[in-house]
Amino acid sequence: MPYRDVRGGFERARRTGHVATVVRALAEKADFYVPAEQVADLAWLRPRVHTKTSLAASTETRLEHAIAVDGSRQVVEARPGLPSVQYGYVQAAAVYLDLEAVESQRAERFVDPVVLHRASRRALVSLDFPTAGAYMRPGMDIRQSWRELVDARFRRKRIDVNGLNQTLLQLLYLIHGDPETPASTIDVNCPACGAHAIPVPSSGRACPTGQCGERLFPTDVLGLQEEVVEDGSNESPLTRLMQTVELLILLGLMTLLWRSARDEYLTRTLFILDGPLALYGPGAPVMRRALEFVQQMARTMPGLGPYVCGAEKTGTFVDYARAIARHDGLKPGELLRVDAEVIGHITNSPHPQQYGKDDYWGRKFFYRCLDGRTLVLTVPPAQGAAYDRHGGQPDPSAYPILPGVLDVIDRTGSAMYQDAIIPIALAHGAAAYPIGVGTDVLKLVAKRKLGLDQASCPDRG
Ligand SMILES: [Zn+2]
Repeated sequence: MPYRDVRGGFERARRTGHVATVVRALAEKADFYVPAEQVADLAWLRPRVHTKTSLAASTETRLEHAIAVDGSRQVVEARPGLPSVQYGYVQAAAVYLDLEAVESQRAERFVDPVVLHRASRRALVSLDFPTAGAYMRPGMDIRQSWRELVDARFRRKRIDVNGLNQTLLQLLYLIHGDPETPASTIDVNCPACGAHAIPVPSSGRACPTGQCGERLFPTDVLGLQEEVVEDGSNESPLTRLMQTVELLILLGLMTLLWRSARDEYLTRTLFILDGPLALYGPGAPVMRRALEFVQQMARTMPGLGPYVCGAEKTGTFVDYARAIARHDGLKPGELLRVDAEVIGHITNSPHPQQYGKDDYWGRKFFYRCLDGRTLVLTVPPAQGAAYDRHGGQPDPSAYPILPGVLDVIDRTGSAMYQDAIIPIALAHGAAAYPIGVGTDVLKLVAKRKLGLDQASCPDRG
């Protein structure tokens, strides 16, 4: 029977509603293998379960701050009557969270549209350009158009917070160097002749092979052009671009604390990425740089750190983790080591030991919070790669920051991870500050220590 709507009329199905119903009925009847439905016998997982208390080191520092980074993207039709002409928009926001204040506040679940509007205007970086059916200028294909537009946007768009006024391009060179000194060149492959590892300065250069005469851009290292297609909306490379921008913001803000407050604040701040610590497909070189960059920082820290994790909310691993928890395979306060055998169960792959090696700079762990919810976290190892050809490093002991990360998750409740970042800011009005243009991040993390009140925090629209 159809539902009544508020005016008493019958609810009308959306135009494609019946298609979804038919497909769902087909799927229910079809016989296929769903790993998340096959979790009845979980005894084999028990040897992989660690308790949070068994991981914690005695000299643990309690983290006081979190900086969360979250991006969004959208593709829209740009010309009436021409649906093939698509325009893309990417934005990334960062939020500072005072963990103790978050802890002491009850999360409000109501969305305040005024606050939401204000928060969305504070996106730290946004960029837009035609993604399909429209070109930078006549006489170029869509891949070339993407390459030149991304290069142009990376030169112009900057992370403009106090103490870190850097363009996206400068940040790209920074993570290819070390936290102290940016690289002077980035190695890229020529998209025309395929020549490998050509060092490209920030001004760009011509391909030196003499065969193609192609102009090379430093942003070619992102590999976006490999996924750009002539006929399609190109959401996939746009998503990759968004993830790259998120990563540059994350590492940029981390560098700011590393340079100016390593001892006092970087050791007490958790950086959280909304989504896994990963860059899929052709983004592998940048993903590897991210891990190396964080490990370089870690070697110069007075204690543990930098603390960084990714929080996944969707996907096969999340479904599987929740299924395990539902069947009591993971109890509150327990962590599951996700080794090759577990990965094999989840991905149904005959080669699970190679999983993640080209995409992930953090290792997945399943954690059941003390409040009962289940999270899939990615955390970078102190040394070496999280994944490699031979199963990588599944053991929690390779991730010394893990206990500190889990502690934050339990103290703040998983409400913090259940929603995107801007809802986090909404949920914790007095404990969360959007980091926008001109924000003094250092002042945010220092305010409790220095006794500054909220009014002295930057609050520009
Ligand atoms: Zn070439």
